[in-house]
Amino acid sequence: MTSQTQTKSANNKVSNYLMLIVLIVMALAVVALFLAFETFLFGDQENQLAALILAGIGIIALAISVFLLYQSRRQTAEMKIEIPKVMTTIECQNKECKNKIIREFQRGDYVFKYSDTTCPKCGGKQMITAVYKEIKEKEKTYAV
Ligand SMILES: [Zn+2]
Repeated sequence: MTSQTQTKSANNKVSNYLMLIVLIVMALAVVALFLAFETFLFGDQENQLAALILAGIGIIALAISVFLLYQSRRQTAEMKIEIPKVMTTIECQNKECKNKIIREFQRGDYVFKYSDTTCPKCGGKQMITAVYKEIKEKEKTYAV
């Protein structure tokens, strides 16, 4: 669990950093476009080629930043879905009951460990019979 939360926060830091760069690039691109537009309309003819180049750079930078923004949003959406939950199956040891409970993995769970809790149906001893990663069908459709 701790390793998962650590990678999550690290990814958040990276995407925040990326977001900041994207926003700066976006702002610069808008300024460049504005300057280019102004120069093109009111500037000397000599500067008009430079204005066009500036406008081109501005448009490209804007396109890249929008693309990165879109890409990073998609990635965070994927990350949220792709972290599989670890599940624990607990079975009642009463042979006449055999009640099965599936819950989220808790620290210290291992197979063949007797659970601290008792069976809610018969009050018998419960044993952990399986620890596994839950894989949902939906995740596969989101994978690249
Ligand atoms: Zn039971």
